[in-house]
Amino acid sequence: MLLDNGRQARLQQLPAVERLFNDERVRKAAGTLHPRLIKRIIRDYLHEVRSEIINGRDAQFSFEELELRLLVARKPTLTRAINGLGVVLHTGLGRAPLPKVAQEALIDVSEHFSALEISLLDGRRGSRYQHVEPLLCELTGAEAALVVNNNCAATLLILSTIAKGREVIVSRGQLIEIGGSFRIPDVMLQSGCRMVEVGTTNRTHLRDYENAITSETGALLRVHTSNYRIIGFTKEVPLEELVALGRKYSIPVIDDLGSGALLDLSRYGLPKEPVVSESIAAGADVVCFSGDKLIGAGQAGIIVGKRELISKMKKHPLTRALRCDKLTYAVLERTLELFLDEERVVREHPLFQILLKSPSEMQKQARQLLNAVQKRLAGRARFEIKPTRAEVGGGSLATESLESVAVAVKPVDISVDELARRMRLFRPPVFGRVVQDEYLLDFRTIRADEIAIVAEALIQALA
Ligand SMILES: *Cc1c(COP(=O)(O)O)cnc(C)c1O
Repeated sequence: MLLDNGRQARLQQLPAVERLFNDERVRKAAGTLHPRLIKRIIRDYLHEVRSEIINGRDAQFSFEELELRLLVARKPTLTRAINGLGVVLHTGLGRAPLPKVAQEALIDVSEHFSALEISLLDGRRGSRYQHVEPLLCELTGAEAALVVNNNCAATLLILSTIAKGREVIVSRGQLIEIGGSFRIPDVMLQSGCRMVEVGTTNRTHLRDYENAITSETGALLRVHTSNYRIIGFTKEVPLEELVALGRKYSIPVIDDLGSGALLDLSRYGLPKEPVVSESIAAGADVVCFSGDKLIGAGQAGIIVGKRELISKMKKHPLTRALRCDKLTYAVLERTLELFLDEERVVREHPLFQILLKSPSEMQKQARQLLNAVQKRLAGRARFEIKPTRAEVGGGSLATESLESVAVAVKPVDISVDELARRMRLFRPPVFGRVVQDEYLLDFRTIRADEIAIVAEALIQALA
């Protein structure tokens, strides 16, 4: 490619890797980082700047930026983080914190060998599903269960097994996109089935499904519209009616629940989210949901339903490609055990502690943070405790928000964006919401033992 002189000159002015590598400032920022990593970071950064210049953008090499990259790389980047965003199940922040019993199981199976695929009863080769299948059946009322990498994988496996080469009928109002490019039509295409859309965006009737049934129909699919709601003049067909229709024509009904609650949140004053056992009781042949949304275990996709269909899925070649490792099973087994005793799960699972935290508790914790920083940072920032709204996130309870309390920080000498950046670069990183000229730390998701850390981060960022 021919470049104009301006761009040529700017490219030639870029420093050489070796020169930077031997530079005093660079050495200092890199600390004890391995020389190979230092060179890689320098090279990657120069490459980025070079591409920007070639593409005609106004990029420049900056020493500060390189130093920052080296400083950040000195510590592992996947570490604990503090969630001040007020989004409980934030995919970017790894969704839910795990219960203590699950953490212990993680250490136990990672430190030692484990009976992952050996039956303890007869010593023969067993299956990794043995650890969670009885629990899942007990908790949902289903005949059989299977676990794969995530709920997206679950949908793919179900459709490939049941309906490959056949038609699957789904309502237009349920053709959802979840973040990270999960789109129902794309997953259906990948599974090899043919999507037949029925109804309109806001209204789908039972007769729309019935009129679309042909000898080619392989399944009826219902998708929980977990991250949005259609309101106003709407109609969705209840699962019971879809099941009755499926029975009439001997067509299986699949229910993709997304978050899939194992207990009824509305009993605790939270908005209602579909409960897995209710879908099974309504007669759905297969139900799938995430392991790391309202169950609060590690990433997994859980499939429960009729034994005959689940057995077929277990034998499908995709299952091997989508299977989870021992760490996932260990976490899932212990987390599911908690749900056997509803009082216990509500008491011990951090997810439920966060969801059920009272406004007075949040108020108290916000005050503790203020007490820890206000004197030290007098004149540097203004602080205020404010009522706010938090979200469940992870595609759960889309339109419902939770009462919350935030500490709002207005820095005096720096911008809010700069404050947010400094908080992010603190170790552990702290994430807060920037709303206009305020930086909000939401106490729905900041936990009691994190207040001192947040205080220290604020002091370092502002003092
Ligand atoms: C979240 C969600 C998915 C994707 O689940 P992952 O476990 O994140 O892959 C699929 N379907 C619905 C309805 C969801 O809410």
